[in-house]
Amino acid sequence: MVLRHEQISPHLVRLTIGGEGLASFRSTGIPDEWVGLVVPGQFQSRYYTVRSWEGGELVVDIAVHDVGLVTEWAMGDCTGDSVRITEAKGSFAMPAEARWLMLVGDLTAMPAMARISATVTDVPVRIWAEVPSDVADYLPADADVTWLEQPGDGQSALAEVVEGIDWPEGEGYFWMAGESAQMRAIRKHLMRERKLPSTAYDVMGYWRGVAKRQPRAVDPGPIYRAGKAAGKSDEQIWADYDAARENS
Ligand SMILES: Cc1cc2nc3c(=O)[nH]c(=O)nc-3n(C[C@H](O)[C@H](O)[C@H](O)COP(=O)(O)OP(=O)(O)OC[C@H]3O[C@@H](n4cnc5c(N)ncnc54)[C@H](O)[C@@H]3O)c2cc1C
Repeated sequence: MVLRHEQISPHLVRLTIGGEGLASFRSTGIPDEWVGLVVPGQFQSRYYTVRSWEGGELVVDIAVHDVGLVTEWAMGDCTGDSVRITEAKGSFAMPAEARWLMLVGDLTAMPAMARISATVTDVPVRIWAEVPSDVADYLPADADVTWLEQPGDGQSALAEVVEGIDWPEGEGYFWMAGESAQMRAIRKHLMRERKLPSTAYDVMGYWRGVAKRQPRAVDPGPIYRAGKAAGKSDEQIWADYDAARENS
């Protein structure tokens, strides 16, 4: 259940979720861990980073944008609403031999970048954040951050930024999340130009820009019914749905 709803900046809504339903929730401890969030009246999930999990309360920070299932719900007063949270999963895996860490992301990546930078204290961490100026105090005060202006609402130019970064010497780890087309471009850059092994980076598409077809163009009904008929779990059905959206 949503215990608290706070507007922490014009672009970010913080939800604190708790109650008996979370009794079995287990954090992975991985600093970019996320959960699927299913809001009332829906079965489709959207993924959100666990900003914190303490004392039986789970906090997520939601970047609000124009149109969307969760964004529209989160902009209203959702205190007291029952939501469904899926099992936490994480993918940040910095090798023990890494001597530096680079984090790059947009507003949706801020919760993960804040958690990662508070967790990794034994190597220098550099951050590039493409976010509105009103979230400048979201990251730890001593963080080494390059603030980037967003090219426009629902847009990102992170790929170009990363292609121009002066790469540190030696082995390190590169983590990045944001708009999917930008992430695809960066994966190619890291593989082809920088020739990094896949263990040296983690690049995740967190949302899809509007330039292409709308992800919701895929009708979830038939996928849901087929999944249920095949005895699949809701988790598997969401995975099928996500795959269908990716291929749409
Ligand atoms: C592992 C993971 C962790 C994530 N963690 C967070 C997090 O902590 N906080 C967070 O805010 N988001 C996070 N995201 C991104 C979030 O899941 C997506 O932005 C999601 O699409 C939002 O759902 P919605 O229902 O509001 O919009 P949808 O119904 O999914 O989309 C509706 C429309 O809005 C557009 N859209 C979606 N997201 C954005 C956006 N951010 N900016 C502009 N336009 C957008 C889409 O192109 C689409 O046209 C994460 C994603 C992943 C995969």
